[in-house]
Amino acid sequence: MTPRRILYLNPSAHLGGAERSLVGLLEALDRRAFEPLAALGHHGLLENALRRLGIACEVWPWPPALLRYGRYHANSAAAKISALAQLPSYAVRVRARARALAPLALVHSNGIKSHLLGAWIKGGAKLLWHVRDFPPAGEAGRLLGAAARRADGVVANSYAVAQAWKARYPRLGGRIEVAHNGVNLPQFAHGQGELFRQRHQLWPGAPLVGMIGVLAPWKGQEIFIQAARRVLDVRPDTRFLIVGDDVYDTAGHGGRRQELERMAAGLGLSDALRFTGFVDEEIADAYAALDLAVHASTRPEPFGRVVIEAMAAGKPIIAADDGGVPEIIRHGENGWLTPPGDVEALALAILKLLEDQDLRAKLAGRAKSDVKLNYSAESHALRIQAIYNKIIGGTPV
Ligand code: UDP
Repeated sequence: MTPRRILYLNPSAHLGGAERSLVGLLEALDRRAFEPLAALGHHGLLENALRRLGIACEVWPWPPALLRYGRYHANSAAAKISALAQLPSYAVRVRARARALAPLALVHSNGIKSHLLGAWIKGGAKLLWHVRDFPPAGEAGRLLGAAARRADGVVANSYAVAQAWKARYPRLGGRIEVAHNGVNLPQFAHGQGELFRQRHQLWPGAPLVGMIGVLAPWKGQEIFIQAARRVLDVRPDTRFLIVGDDVYDTAGHGGRRQELERMAAGLGLSDALRFTGFVDEEIADAYAALDLAVHASTRPEPFGRVVIEAMAAGKPIIAADDGGVPEIIRHGENGWLTPPGDVEALALAILKLLEDQDLRAKLAGRAKSDVKLNYSAESHALRIQAIYNKIIGGTPV
C-alpha cells in the first residue's frame, strides 16, 4: 500500500504545547500508512525536531505583519491594514506550493492561522482541523466560522475545547471528536534530574518545586512566585524553579522574563528561585530534577501538556482546576487541584505536599500508571490515525 501523503500546517516553529504534541504524534505515526510533510510559518526549533525525525519540512514564511497578528492583544487598525495588505500575495504563493506537493490525501492543520490556510489550500485533499485552543473572538472567529464548512473533520485536544467549539460553531457539532494528547513515556521516565541540577547549578539535595511552561501572561508564573514567598516563610529550605521563556511571535508578548525576575527579586526570592530560560532537548531532565511540579494557569487551559509530562516523569503535580486539566487530574488521587489564580491555596498545597512524602508518592505513582494507560504517544497516534482513515476513507490501520 502506498502511504497516503499528509501535509501538516503549523504557524509557529517554536516549541510550545501544540508543537510538542505534533512532534509526539509524528514520532509515533505509522509511516507505512502515512507520509508526513510539514509546512511551518518560520524557521525554528520545531523544524529541527521534525527534521530529526526525518520528516520533510518546508518553511512558508509568514509575512511579518501576519505573523505578529494575534488574539491576545488589541490589534491596531494599522496592524490590521498591513496584515490584510500582505495576505493576497502570500495566499497565492502558498496555494501554488501546496499544488506542487500533490497528491495530498489530507491537510492536518494546527492553530487558527493554519486552519484558515488549510481551508484555502486544500484543493482536492481532505482537511482536518486540530483545535488545541478555545475559539477566538473577533475577526479570526468570524473567518473560522466562514471557513468551517471546508473542514472535513475537527479534532479537539480536550472535551473543554470541543465543547467551546461546538457552542461557538453549532454546525461543526457532529464533526468534532476529542483526542487527548499523548506523551513519549520512555523519554520522560528516564530524565536525568541530578545532571540537570548540576548543569544549571541548582541546589543539590534541596526540595525543589518547579513550574515548566511558556512565559505567557496567563500561565500564572506570578501566582507561583507569590506562593513561593509564602512557602519560603514556613519552609526556608525550599527552592523554586521556573523553566521556559517568552517564545511567541505575536505582538503583545516580550519582556516577561525580566518582569517576573523583577517581581521575584522584589519579594526577596533571588537566592531561592531560579529561571533557566527555554529548555529544549533536556526537557525530561528538567522534570526529573523536581520534587514537585506546579501548573498555575489563570485562564482555562485548553489541555495542559505540562500536566501529563509531569505525570510521565513520575512527579506529583499541583494544577489549576479549569479547562482541560480536570479531565486529566482527579484531586487527591493522581494529582492536586487548586483554584486558578489563588495564591494562598497554591502555597498551602505546596506546603502540604512537601510535608507529606507518602501523599507525594501516592499521587505520583497513580499519575504514572494513569499516564501509561491514557496518554501514551502510541495510543494518541492510533486515535488520530483512526480519524484520518475515517476522513480519507480506506483501510483502518
Ligand atoms: N516547554 C519546553 N521548554 C520549556 C518550557 C516548556 O519544551 O522551557 C514545553 C513543555 O514541555 C510543554 C509545552 O512547552 O510540552 C507547554 O505545553 P502546555 O500545553 O502546557 O502549554 P502551551 O504552551 O501549549 O500553552
